[in-house]
Amino acid sequence: MRILVTGGAGFIGSHLCERLLRDGHDVVCLDNFFTGSKDNIRHLLDDHRFELVRHDVTEPILLEVDRIYNLACPASPIHYQYNPVKTIKTSVLGAVHMLGLAKRVRARLLQASTSEVYGDPLQHPQTESYWGNVNPIGIRSCYDEGKRVAETLMMDYHRQNGVDVRIVRIFNTFGPRMAENDGRVVSNFILQALRGEDLTVYGDGSQTRSFCYVDDLVEGLIRMMDTDGFTGPVNLGNVAEHSIGEFAERIVALTGSRSRIVFRPLPPDDPTQRQPDISLAAARLGWRPVVDLDTGLRRTVEYFAGRLGRRRG
Ligand code: NAD
Ligand code: UDP
Repeated sequence: MRILVTGGAGFIGSHLCERLLRDGHDVVCLDNFFTGSKDNIRHLLDDHRFELVRHDVTEPILLEVDRIYNLACPASPIHYQYNPVKTIKTSVLGAVHMLGLAKRVRARLLQASTSEVYGDPLQHPQTESYWGNVNPIGIRSCYDEGKRVAETLMMDYHRQNGVDVRIVRIFNTFGPRMAENDGRVVSNFILQALRGEDLTVYGDGSQTRSFCYVDDLVEGLIRMMDTDGFTGPVNLGNVAEHSIGEFAERIVALTGSRSRIVFRPLPPDDPTQRQPDISLAAARLGWRPVVDLDTGLRRTVEYFAGRLGRRRG
């Protein structure tokens, strides 16, 4: 099959492109390199089945493809808040353009949505039937509401035009090729520990997240794309819930760092808890994460250590 991955030069996108090539597909990777990088896909450029298109999804495009994974969108709070108007345009116009393309060439389209559609959730853990608790005018809204509208567009094109859509709500995912400067907790803590700097816990560290290793997530995305007659939305994430304070201690222990843990103010609208209910993914896709947190973290530490080492030397 010929498969388009928007945001293919990003963290998750690059792993997805790699896996799709390994599965024997032709892959078109589309990216504007806002948060993605050629470094992430350089090793794929020599493969004749891999094509790179520099394009911005806020503009329309026509390509002949069978399937589309729509991942283009900055994902970390620092990046999506850098130009919030552009972020919401990327989600909304990007969805409109990919839906238009899918409709025209009759491609199946998978939308990368997010646990952020649940906002600061009042239901715990979050099931797909929960409608969320999102602030429509806060600093995270450009991302949260953009992704919510993208979901709405998916379902409206599906009902109105019969477009074959899939919606996946991704929970915190980590692994090699996360951007170093994205300010997310996994990359921040690992880099701080490797550099011997203080680990910055925001708030008192009691807020929780669950972390899914990227290979597990990619497996879930592919299973969802390959499942007939199921639009979702479906949650994909790891159910093991960790407080950010405990997570900081884990990173210090894992890296053998002498860094101290310090506390900084909590950013506004920071969700206090987040944990997916993945029983729907288990029932419909036969999916569950298999990489345990420490194994995933060791691979990620190795990746960042390699990058720091190359720079030093
Ligand atoms: P990322 O920032 O590494 O990847 C996003 C990619 O999209 C980058 O390569 C970027 O250059 C590209 N991009 C951004 N705006 C674009 C535009 N207008 N046109 C074309 N390309 C554009 O982030 P990621 O973590 O790989 O996230 C991928 C997708 O998964 C995103 O849609 C994100 O919202 C979703 N997601 C990620 C997580 C996570 O924990 N990483 C959680 C929930 C949802
Ligand atoms: N966080 C932290 N220190 C950091 C970066 C993040 O304590 O250096 C916290 C952040 O406030 C949030 C959690 O870690 O409560 C996860 O943040 P991230 O940006 O990784 O993801 P998101 O908030 O989108 O889940």
